[in-house]
Order: sequence, then structure tokens, then C-alpha cells
Amino acid sequence: MGEWEIIVEDGDLVVEFEKSGENQKKKGKAEKTEKQSGGLLLQPPVLKSMEIRAQSIFRPGQKDIEIVYALSGDGYKTDMLHQFSTEDVLYDSSSIEANVNIENMIAHIKAEIGELPELLVIVHTHPEGTPFPSPQDKLFFRTTAQTIKQHSPGTEVFYGIHAISGGSVRAKKDYKKVNENTIKWSSITHDHEVAFYTKESKPVEVGING
Ligand SMILES: [Zn+2]
Repeated sequence: MGEWEIIVEDGDLVVEFEKSGENQKKKGKAEKTEKQSGGLLLQPPVLKSMEIRAQSIFRPGQKDIEIVYALSGDGYKTDMLHQFSTEDVLYDSSSIEANVNIENMIAHIKAEIGELPELLVIVHTHPEGTPFPSPQDKLFFRTTAQTIKQHSPGTEVFYGIHAISGGSVRAKKDYKKVNENTIKWSSITHDHEVAFYTKESKPVEVGING
């Protein structure tokens, strides 16, 4: 209400006002909204593969090396991790927000599983950071969700921010939901904290299954 923001779309400056009409439109899609209310379910094997993926690139003291990966599944449940090659999906790793080639990411996922999944979660890391979206992340969520919808209207897209820090031996801590959209744990070498968001950067309820 009365809120507005400036976004950049394909180089054009767009001033967007939050209209009551938008809310009306969202309410029209009651079925989808209902479906989302269950949130996301992550199983320990998926969390383990996220841990391995994020740790594989982590270099302590280098804040600027971010990676992107994706989870796919159906309904609320994610069951597969897609790992992208840096050359195809990231132009350079200094800024995920500016440098992800979403078309190549879509092509990669299609090559792997045939089509875009019912549920897609695009995750990027925040090395030695916090799992909160930057203004650029918010723009990234919004614009890439739009591109994915164009390719596959039936795909539900969410976003994850995977904060990782460490590099030295520590006590292992099991997966724990620390608030509605965040799961935290420690491997023997790194601390992990992953938070999930909608394309509008709103928190998504998560659960650990199994
Ligand atoms: Zn980010």
C-alpha cells in the first residue's frame, strides 16, 4: 500500500507502484497460493549435496567467489541438485546478480531432465555472508522468475541464499530449522545457513523431511 520501487528491466528504468489490482490478481490464483502455503521440503540427502556443492568452491577470505546451483522437484519436494559449469552459467563469479546467464541455465536443466521441473529453486552462495537478499538479488529473483515463466508457465520458482563460512575443523551440527525460511547446520569444516524466498523476496516456509 503506497509502496513503490524502481526496477531495471532490460536496461529500461521502470517505476513500479504496488496497486491493489495486483493483489486482486494474486487472489485470483487461489489454487497456486494454497499450494505454496505448504512451503518447501528439503530432505537430508539434498541438504548434503548442497553442502558438498557449496564447500567445493569455498575459499576462506575470498568474499567474492559465489556459485549458483539449482534444486528441482515436484510439489513441495526437491529431489535433485543441478550443478552448472561456471563458463556456461556465470560470466564471472564476482557478482551472481549481474552475471548469471539464465537462458543457459534453463538449457542445462532441460538437457539434464528433459524439461523445466514443476518446482525449481535457484540457489546462490554468500561466502562468509548472511542469507539475506541484496537489492541486486531481489532484482535477480524477479527478472529470472519472469524468464522462467516465459519458458515454462507451470514451473514454480523459488530462490535460496546459501551462506557459508569456515574452513577449519569444528563441531558437526545437524540440520536445524532456525526460522520459517532458514535451515542451519555445520559440517566438520563449514557453517551453513540457507534461506528461501519467493521471486518477490518474501520468506518461504521450509521443512526438513526425513
Ligand atoms: Zn546474493
